[in-house]
Amino acid sequence: MKCIVCKFGGSSLADGSNIGRVADILYADPARRYAVVSAPGKRFSADVKVTDLLYECYRAACETGSCTAAFAAVRRRFTSIVEELGLENFDIASILDETEREIDARKSADFAASRGEYLNARVIAAKLGWEFVDAKDLVFFDERGAFDEERSYPVIAERLKHIPNAVIPGFYGTDVAGNIKTFSRGGSDISGSIVARAVDADLYENWTDVSGFLAADPRIVEKPEKIEVISFKELRELSYMGANVLHADSIFPVRKGDIPIKIKNTFRPQDAGTLILPSKKYKKQGNLVTGIAGKKDFTVIFIEKSMMNAEVGFARKVLSILEEDGVNFEHMPTGIDTLSLVIESRYLAGGMLDRLLEQIRAAVHPDYLRVLENIALVATVGHGMAASVGTSARLFRALSEAGVNVRMIDQGSSELNIIVGIDNDDYEKCLRAIYREFFGKAVQSMAE
Ligand code: ASP
Repeated sequence: MKCIVCKFGGSSLADGSNIGRVADILYADPARRYAVVSAPGKRFSADVKVTDLLYECYRAACETGSCTAAFAAVRRRFTSIVEELGLENFDIASILDETEREIDARKSADFAASRGEYLNARVIAAKLGWEFVDAKDLVFFDERGAFDEERSYPVIAERLKHIPNAVIPGFYGTDVAGNIKTFSRGGSDISGSIVARAVDADLYENWTDVSGFLAADPRIVEKPEKIEVISFKELRELSYMGANVLHADSIFPVRKGDIPIKIKNTFRPQDAGTLILPSKKYKKQGNLVTGIAGKKDFTVIFIEKSMMNAEVGFARKVLSILEEDGVNFEHMPTGIDTLSLVIESRYLAGGMLDRLLEQIRAAVHPDYLRVLENIALVATVGHGMAASVGTSARLFRALSEAGVNVRMIDQGSSELNIIVGIDNDDYEKCLRAIYREFFGKAVQSMAE
């Protein structure tokens, strides 16, 4: 039988009526066998996520020895959810008492934070009449704190083999010492992906509060097109550049297992959403460009030296300086006699930039060393670009017509993307010009 693993985010589970909606979605398709759930999120913009309330509980437990006062808000959230769902026989009060005691006793931030997912999964399992399976028995971390796939996948597969339907809390697992450990914030996306991979699901559905990915940032480009189908590689490029619907690390487990992801909107289940496909299953879509994304605040260090190409070890010397100083670089466009380093400006604060320049001068004696600050990067991403002549000409013409000065160009070797470096101030103009060129719409400036 077909198997779909569904992950529901915090906004999809913020209160009882939303959880009712989620139950309808799960019941609507028998292939939806496993639900991985987040903690209840915000019900309105000034609301506080249950996970944040729980971090408060942890702080109170450490500072005063008791989280009772802070835990009252968590208690209210779950009590009202259970009431709204009409689960009269579900003894949430005892489970909450036990949780409060454990938060006080364990004094672990990860343990406290994980209880939002734990409690929500227990409630949702009761609502659905499905089995609750604790993530602490399924997801394991290794001694370095990284997800231990070798240990986790067989355990999950074996445990779920005989369970037709289960609700599993997202966000946490168990470390080598047997303690609860969480992923980084938003990590339930990763848990869902892990479960999907372990049971070799046909599809990983990620239910959230938007109807999939948009081809550009809607705060900058008015009503951008929806992306119906995107490849893992394209998504990686776009989400790395700031287009985030999914936790960046959540792609890897399903990607390795060639399992497609579908982003769906809990509040508009009739919308098609975005399908994310492994390269093997991805057929080129009509569009040349799939999406455009970008980030501000980079610094570019240009290094020029004649005959650089003949000097063995030049790049290694430069890169080892970055390595020794613990500075991460994003891109390294090169020419015959030039090498540029594109670095997020936040890494260069506190005198780091001057220190790097000094070390580069001493190590490779460049003819010319120049720094460009306040640079934004904009990536235009699409598999279609590789096979089509004139794509970059169109892009650069559009930018020049819009009066955007291109300070740097980097085309990925896969020809999946073209990245331009521009002044921070030109960022919005740049995104709109590229969007207009490739999506052919009149884009009104929302900021102007
Ligand atoms: N509840 C966790 C958070 O707020 C994890 C998640 O929702 O994915 O970050």
